[in-house]
Amino acid sequence: MGYKAIKSEKKSSLGGLFYIISNRIKTLFYPPICPLCEEVLSGGKTRICDRCRSKITYLTEPTCLRCGKEIDDAEREYCEDCKTKPKSYVKGFPAMRYREPVKRGIVNFKYHNKKTYAESFAYEIIKTHGRDIKKISPEVLIPVPVHKNKLEQRGYNQAEALAGSLGRYLDIPVDASILKRTVNTTPQKLLDNEERQKNLERAFISDQKQVQYKKVMLVDDIYTTGSTIEACTKVLKACGVKEVYYTSICIGKD
Ligand SMILES: [Zn+2]
Ligand SMILES: [Zn+2]
Repeated sequence: MGYKAIKSEKKSSLGGLFYIISNRIKTLFYPPICPLCEEVLSGGKTRICDRCRSKITYLTEPTCLRCGKEIDDAEREYCEDCKTKPKSYVKGFPAMRYREPVKRGIVNFKYHNKKTYAESFAYEIIKTHGRDIKKISPEVLIPVPVHKNKLEQRGYNQAEALAGSLGRYLDIPVDASILKRTVNTTPQKLLDNEERQKNLERAFISDQKQVQYKKVMLVDDIYTTGSTIEACTKVLKACGVKEVYYTSICIGKD
């Protein structure tokens, strides 16, 4: 709910001025750096640098109508994953492929205490899907939660930081209180597909029996097979949400 407070502060003129000044001061002491190569950027903008951007694999059509992953055959509507395991969410908006140099950036963002990289990654999502998300106009952005042990280790939830930046760009509130991760799940790598889904479905819960939202967008850093987003979607639907969408920085196994 902290983000709502930030947004309303931004709206009052005095608050807006404070926001601009504090951002300028921050830029002075912590110049923005590219989250992928970690070099200082010129111009004071929080972005991925042009050199790294030229190496990024963005998603090109045809893409799966459900998850947004690239597919080889334009005749097909869904990727193999979505065809064999139908999803309960409406549609996904990943910004790029999970490949180098993005992979390195995600590791920095997630494990190297670089919460501020959320801003650059959110910018990539806005650039690729901002218009689509605005059109859908979800009532709220919901970050995929991490278990509290991981939260203690890392100090922040990268999905929540990303949702916060996205929410500021899009003027959509963020609610990180609905979903919770209960158990520290067995590493998904060690399980087969069916066990993976079960393992995850037990991991997400909500304290709230009924939520006020009907249309929401989940936010995560990476989408691989979709089992995390699917597990979260099921919990949200059980709480009365009608339409669930998702967005992520990247998609794919490699
Ligand atoms: Zn770079
Ligand atoms: Zn798909």
